[in-house]
Amino acid sequence: MKVMKFGGTSVGKPERMHDVAALVTRDEEPKIVVLSALSGTTNSLVEIGNSLAAGERGAAKDQIDKLNAHYQNFISELLVTKEAKDACRVIIAEHFEFLNIILKISFNEALNKDILAQGELMSTKMFSCYLEEKGIDHLLLPALDFMTIDTYEEPQIGSIKVKLSQLLNQHKDKKIFITQGYISRNARGEVDNLKRGGSDYSASLIAAAINASVCEIWTDIDGMHNNDPRIVQKTVAIEQLSFDEAAELAYFGAKILHPASIWPAQHYKIPVKLLNTMQPDAKGTLITEEAGSVGVKAVAAKDGITAIKIKSSRMLLAYGFLRKVFEVFEKYRTSIDMITTSEVAVSLTIDNNSSLKEIIRELEAFGTVELDKEQAIVSIVGNEIGQTEHILRKLFESIADIPVRMVSYGGSPHNVSLLVPAAYKTKTLQVLNKGIFGLD
Ligand code: ASP
Ligand code: MG
Repeated sequence: MKVMKFGGTSVGKPERMHDVAALVTRDEEPKIVVLSALSGTTNSLVEIGNSLAAGERGAAKDQIDKLNAHYQNFISELLVTKEAKDACRVIIAEHFEFLNIILKISFNEALNKDILAQGELMSTKMFSCYLEEKGIDHLLLPALDFMTIDTYEEPQIGSIKVKLSQLLNQHKDKKIFITQGYISRNARGEVDNLKRGGSDYSASLIAAAINASVCEIWTDIDGMHNNDPRIVQKTVAIEQLSFDEAAELAYFGAKILHPASIWPAQHYKIPVKLLNTMQPDAKGTLITEEAGSVGVKAVAAKDGITAIKIKSSRMLLAYGFLRKVFEVFEKYRTSIDMITTSEVAVSLTIDNNSSLKEIIRELEAFGTVELDKEQAIVSIVGNEIGQTEHILRKLFESIADIPVRMVSYGGSPHNVSLLVPAAYKTKTLQVLNKGIFGLD
């Protein structure tokens, strides 16, 4: 059995949803199809929630009506017969009635989660209506019946496994199951979610839970690329990556895969494939335990980074200094991404400034503290990077004109990271594309 996950743009237009149906019926292997909300829907639901939180019911009502109109048009084009359209409109109307009821009652965070869940609930139901009209046998599996998170908001893989296998066992005759990405039930039994972009995470959890042959993530690009296609003109898809490499790239901004979705697949040894709905026969990217080949595979960048430098003569020949510094970050639950040291100073980076003031105040007890906000980490990722011939020379020659603030090499054999001012992010990605990959 395999998992096929389709993102918002893959189901965002009626004709794209038709393509998805063709893809899920292309082979005989039993499958669980995980769908995101139609593109734009979750953003609209966030706005509706924001309006309600601000007490702007009129604005929320307008937003709901606008969204409803979008779904009405969608259904007109998705389905052919009047009967199928009418049946689907009845199903979707329930969700808009629900949103309209929320307008009238007092708003709270739990209700907000209910609002956010409507997107995936509607996309899966509309897809089911389409399969129904085409006479394609399938079953809708409500994610809220098996996808649960604990009090720390961590998915409960053990219980997901048990519940899913019970559900699947009850329907042994079915080959195509449809379910929602993103949504879950929390420890209080309320509707919750796996955070924005979480449908990939759902897919990976489901794949792990059913020990799937593969977890296919279908988007509108042909896999992970060696660089950010929005920033450099020429990029190439990467054929194979290890889970570790993919995790680095996903964290450092390759938007194609949610970073949290790596661990379930990695832990349960389920291969992940990134595929393109527009070019279903393209190879895409295969992510497995093995890296496939050695050398540099990609560069990626993440901005919104703050660098903190602590300079202290007390650091000279002292032990225990770094521990004290790290303890401050631990106390404020702020993770450190990059770190470089000299004999009298240490520089490190964080991507979460929510406790910055408190952190600085405590660090000042150890020495002089300097801050550089608006930095970007540019990461060069691969397998045994050091084995790529002349890699460091190529790297440093290409960034000769970039004011690099920090360099980190050797932390793992799979990564070299540079910290540059965010304003230089684009240029850095461009010069590296040429210098390392020979692409303009
Ligand atoms: N629909 C959700 C979002 O837009 C989840 C997802 O698409 O992955 O964040
Ligand atoms: Mg996504």
